Amino acid sequence: MDELSAVRDAAERALAYAATIDERRVFPDAGAVDALSALGGTVPDGESDVAETLELLAEVGGAATVVNTGPNYYGFVTGATHPAALGAAMIAAAWDQNAALPVMSPVAATLHDVTREWLVDLLGLGADTDVAYVTGATVANASCLAAARDALLAEVGWDAPAQGLFGAPLIQVVTGRQAHSTVRKSLGFVGLGSERIMTVPSDDQGRMRADLLPDLDPADGPILVCAQAGEVNTGAFDPFDEIADWTEARGGWLHVDGAFGLWALADPTRAHLTAGLTRADSLATDGHKWLNVTYDCGIALVQRPGALRRTFASIAGYLPPASGFEAMHHTPQSSQRARQIEVWAVLRALGRTGLATLVQRGCDGATAIAERLGTSDGFEIVNDVVLNQVLVIYRDPATTARLIEAVQDDGRIWCGPTSWNGATAMRISVSSWKTTFDDARRAADVITEVAASLG
Ligand SMILES: *Cc1c(COP(=O)(O)O)cnc(C)c1O
Repeated sequence: MDELSAVRDAAERALAYAATIDERRVFPDAGAVDALSALGGTVPDGESDVAETLELLAEVGGAATVVNTGPNYYGFVTGATHPAALGAAMIAAAWDQNAALPVMSPVAATLHDVTREWLVDLLGLGADTDVAYVTGATVANASCLAAARDALLAEVGWDAPAQGLFGAPLIQVVTGRQAHSTVRKSLGFVGLGSERIMTVPSDDQGRMRADLLPDLDPADGPILVCAQAGEVNTGAFDPFDEIADWTEARGGWLHVDGAFGLWALADPTRAHLTAGLTRADSLATDGHKWLNVTYDCGIALVQRPGALRRTFASIAGYLPPASGFEAMHHTPQSSQRARQIEVWAVLRALGRTGLATLVQRGCDGATAIAERLGTSDGFEIVNDVVLNQVLVIYRDPATTARLIEAVQDDGRIWCGPTSWNGATAMRISVSSWKTTFDDARRAADVITEVAASLG
């Protein structure tokens, strides 16, 4: 069929792109970005040829991508695309399944249930943990926090889904000082306030100082604690056992943001970091970061069965009765992409040992970079490299900022700045399945070479 020949061409162009990700400039040059204007202009008056449209997208758009799927991207904590995910994404695009309800997609429903069991096993969570797929860790955090809010208020006799928060008992919310900005954002839009939280000081790695948790009395209101697995600069983990003890003693709810760090649970060599982590009532993570599925994919894991449903059930007369896991009654979304398809493919392809290796490879890459830079003139590694994150200062913050810009201009690798203790530092994150130990060493060499050229 004619329309399929255009799609076949597009798939071939997509694969041709994927075949070049090792060699591509990581951030597009200015010419390629300027050329994007060819995608604009006024609304076409009539129909255009599908093949020609897709060719324009592939050629002009493809030249202006950030190549975070390759081995040389060290910015943010973006993750790449594992081949199992890319292949599954292409199959899933043809399927176009709506994962809202089992009756809308038996295959999505089955893959939800299978990946739920696999994740629970791989991460060491309770057998009846609810798992819900959302757009990213921000919404996973928000979904967990909304479920926590409603569960805590239900315990004191308040029906928050029905009555809202006007007149509700106050919830005492506690976070670490280095909580991710999206946790505060989430607290804001689930009605708990981004500024009325109690903030616990952090240590020099950004870990919550559990010994400084405030002396709260649950009689003053239910208690919600947000901890973190993987500080976004240092990769540090909060001391979960102490935080969980404190929370349990007060009958509270412990939530953990583990957007990338949660995957350390799948790697036995990181057990020293994750001790106590699975005691959390709810945990948020991303598939699109370290698990290397395509954007977008966040995962909310709630170890209090039924809590997500209390918050997100939207019951309407035309809906069929409960039959298996109804995603639309456990997430903020109704219609939704079947994100579990790619998660299934990656977990199936990697297995338990492959997933552990994926995590170890990121950690080894970070270690390789820290070792190289740590012994190079003028470089200082600011963090304890415990995971996949390396924080670097070159001479002083101003020179560090210049170096970051020069590395970005150079184009062979890409990493970005962050603010650490109020000063600019270079943040290097290793979260691509493609980045080998040697790639990471080469990245460090690029950085020292560019630094030498700064004069
Ligand atoms: C990336 C990140 C988030 C937000 O995740 P999104 O997928 O971008 O919504 C939250 N917390 C931490 C620690 C992160 O690294």
